Amino acid sequence: MYQRHNMFRMLKALGEKVYQWRKMLLIAPTVTGLVIGISLTGILEPLELLTFDQFFRWRSHFPSESEKKDPRIVIITIDEADISTLKQWPLSDAKLAQLINIVKTENPRVIGLNIFRDFPIEPGSDTLNQIFKTTPNLIGIEKVIGNSIQPPAILSQSKQVGFVDLVLDKDGKVRRDLVTITSEEFGQKLSFGITLALSYLQKENIIAQSGNSSQEEIIIGKAHLFPLDKNAGNYINIDNGGYQILLNYRGGEEKFQTISIIDVFNQQYPQNLFNDRLVLIGVTADSINTSFLTPYHPSYPTSGTFIQANAISQILSAALDDRPLLKVWSNPLEWLWIFAWTTIGMLVTYVVLNKHSFQYNSVIKWILFILNDCWLGLLLFSCSYVLFLQGWWVPTITPFMVVLGASVIIMVDKWKYLATFDTLTKVPNRLYFDKILEQTRLLHHLSRKQTSLILCDVDHFKQYNDTYGHPAGDRCLQKVAKEIRTAIRRTDFVARYGGEEFAIILPRTDRQEAKKIAQRILEKVISLNISHNTSLTSDYVTISCGISSLFLQDQLSTKRLINQADKALYQAKQEGRNRVIVYGSSLVTDEH
Ligand code: GH3
Ligand code: MG
Ligand code: MG
Repeated sequence: MYQRHNMFRMLKALGEKVYQWRKMLLIAPTVTGLVIGISLTGILEPLELLTFDQFFRWRSHFPSESEKKDPRIVIITIDEADISTLKQWPLSDAKLAQLINIVKTENPRVIGLNIFRDFPIEPGSDTLNQIFKTTPNLIGIEKVIGNSIQPPAILSQSKQVGFVDLVLDKDGKVRRDLVTITSEEFGQKLSFGITLALSYLQKENIIAQSGNSSQEEIIIGKAHLFPLDKNAGNYINIDNGGYQILLNYRGGEEKFQTISIIDVFNQQYPQNLFNDRLVLIGVTADSINTSFLTPYHPSYPTSGTFIQANAISQILSAALDDRPLLKVWSNPLEWLWIFAWTTIGMLVTYVVLNKHSFQYNSVIKWILFILNDCWLGLLLFSCSYVLFLQGWWVPTITPFMVVLGASVIIMVDKWKYLATFDTLTKVPNRLYFDKILEQTRLLHHLSRKQTSLILCDVDHFKQYNDTYGHPAGDRCLQKVAKEIRTAIRRTDFVARYGGEEFAIILPRTDRQEAKKIAQRILEKVISLNISHNTSLTSDYVTISCGISSLFLQDQLSTKRLINQADKALYQAKQEGRNRVIVYGSSLVTDEH
């Protein structure tokens, strides 16, 4: 029995809490839903992508051990200076053959030739073809989409080819890696990057396998690949043709060991540089237009060779070192994440606001508001960044919008409260009272009933303060206000009218009914049993009430209503306090 009683009390308390928080319970899902709706239009996508780019830059500035230089890859670069030294472009087949032969002497594990060779460039074609035939660990390139470029015929026959087509985002940047393309015309083709990575991994006995969890999962050693869908992560409706994954860049040129082609020809490189490594040969000269924008710079492009190196590196380090590939959450999980931030935003704003008492129209409110959102934003970006370091690309701008939205709503709500409520007694203030009284006046005729007003004033309150001190006086006022609130009906409106005066508007209420309510207030206040030794009326704190009512035919004047109630109150004081006087009855009359 006792337990049941306890349970009931708990449920009641919970119910009250829910009632108090009902606004929040309504606001949180609404704000979340609204912002998710906005994000689905794609408006926020560019900002999300810029944040994503920023995360790449931060990581490359402060790299962890696994983000440092990739030790498995060496890139032989052909830049502007090399071309002017060599005095030829394209390189003749003989020159290329010479280069590959030098590299081969050090037994590289795989060689990637990121130079188009769709037709012979004499002299030396026979020699180069011979090398193609006798180098099973050499992979060439082709271009498949749009204006296709054929691979070297011999490499094509022995399936030593990968495509170098890249997919660009709407802002022209490469953030995704196209791993395979399937078409009715040529079946499935693998990218240059994945072909090289898989040839490199052969020696470790690692091959690509299809995953168990989904048909589309590909497992390569410790790496698990999942294709991107149209709305993956923060993308909205991308062209996700083929098998695409996010490109988890390691960085630019500085993240790879490079050597210029001239130094290779001059044998000026450390011994065993190519031994057992993946050697990528590619152009980095600006005049040969193979550069693309990446997250690392908004306008300065990166050579395609380095993008390929990143694509290879991410597979190798994911397969061998467990370096994470970038993954995304399912949509429901992303929504939950956004909803969580709405809740955090609202709670934090609420707590911060309640911790600081300030005037609603002060400058401090703005400073508080901005600081609050700044550090909430910082927290959010930090969380997203930490998740990024773990390999998760999660919404950041979208939850930031909900944090802003939620905090604005809570702030505005609080300011509205501060502007309209009395902070001591928690009932509406005089300003709000005047507004409501004016509205009541306008509705008076429509209601076809009387409108009443009660003015209450604590008796001998000056003495109370003098006897018990001002803080005790404050507490007394709080208690009285609370009792008045419980004594009136839901349709009545109570406000703190002055220092120790309260006014109650009773719409659609005649004087008899108003008198009953005033009487109830009187009884409730006296039964609070707040000792008042210096009161000439009673041993306890009491109040007096004056009531005025207006009939339908009266032109309701708020001034008159208040004046009459005031007169009635004065009368109540005169007659000995702790009583209710209705204006118009017996002694109280209008002098006008
Ligand atoms: P009466 O019975 O005629 O109403 O006598 P009274 O002493 O209550 O009337 P009076 O208007 O002279 O005094 C009101 C006192 O209320 C004066 C003021 O110090 C006190 N008071 C007004 N606002 C507050 C407040 O917010 N807190 C406290 N503690 N006292 C207040
Ligand atoms: Mg008083
Ligand atoms: Mg007074």
